[in-house]
Amino acid sequence: MHYLPSPTRYQAIPYRRCGRSGVKLPAVSLGLWHNFGDVDLLSNQRAILRRAFDSGVTHFDLANNYGPPPGSAEINFGRILREDFSTYRDELLISSKAGYNMWEGPYGEWGSKKYLVASLDQSLKRMGLEYVDIFYHHRPDPDTPLEETMTALDLLVRQGKALYVGISNYQPAEAAEAIRMLRELGTPCLIHQPKYSMFERWVEDGLLDLLGQEGVGCIPFSPLAQGLLTNKYLGGIPSDSRVAKGVGFLTENQLTPERLTQIKQLNDLAQARQQSLAQMALAWVLKDERVTSVLIGASKPEQLTDSLHCLNNLQFSTEELASIEQILGS
Ligand code: NDP
Repeated sequence: MHYLPSPTRYQAIPYRRCGRSGVKLPAVSLGLWHNFGDVDLLSNQRAILRRAFDSGVTHFDLANNYGPPPGSAEINFGRILREDFSTYRDELLISSKAGYNMWEGPYGEWGSKKYLVASLDQSLKRMGLEYVDIFYHHRPDPDTPLEETMTALDLLVRQGKALYVGISNYQPAEAAEAIRMLRELGTPCLIHQPKYSMFERWVEDGLLDLLGQEGVGCIPFSPLAQGLLTNKYLGGIPSDSRVAKGVGFLTENQLTPERLTQIKQLNDLAQARQQSLAQMALAWVLKDERVTSVLIGASKPEQLTDSLHCLNNLQFSTEELASIEQILGS
């Protein structure tokens, strides 16, 4: 059936400025790493994307290798874009990335100009786009000179294949270098995409300070620790969960008794705040103003809606923050 988005979609969610750039991101963005491959139902993918856009989520995050099989998330997204969203392209921010293994041989991963230029061309074809809004280098490359990688990002912007560029998984020192080089090239780094959640805190050790000082945005991925920071594993492993499906990096052995105790205590605290644990975990990441947007995943439209309700309460009392630290430190 022909899709008409909700007319009230822009009243539903706040938009936050990305660093010192001209662009704003929805406070919650949707990633297509899982649940959008050829192994997943297209009708469910469509329902999640429609729910997102209807809720004011304008930013969709992809990468060359998302699937499985690699590339299929971009193909499926491209199809839904064409069928449902073609008249809304200018209302959407679409990201892709290259850095991880995508094709055979020496030019199919890491950070060479050869790889980045070819990979973005492939991504654009898969999605049926003329340009992406943000193109990321997905992970630092210990062997390619950083200057080559950053020059390739600058080139892609000058060629009109990307509007903005970003980096992902860069540690503070290498991020500082990349940000400096991109600024000198005249293509400022828009955004950094690190892993950050209550269970993964490395960004607090220098990265957030750097991004704040440099005016670069921050979009943490896996803010729900792939589903651990929700109530879903409290009663066992549901058959439709990421752990049970066994398609990614989340495995049963991460559900240790200690972890489950922490999750249970955090869940109790969230309930006292009248939030689901997912909502509290997202609010906790968003409470830092240097965080532009949280980048979540969802396997169903209902999860997305539940997560979006985090926006109803982003405030934490000193006591709540102390309780969270105590639980996480235990
Ligand atoms: P999350 O931590 O948000 O985990 C998403 C999963 O959590 C869902 O698939 C679902 O699990 C569960 N979930 C989500 N909402 C709820 C809810 N309200 N209640 C209960 N369970 C819920 O993020 P992801 O790990 O999926 O990562 C998000 C995005 O980040 C990716 O799609 C990708 O765009 C990006 N990313 C970037 C990386 C990088 O290197 N730059 C690496 C990894 C991700 P279930 O499927 O079990 O239902």
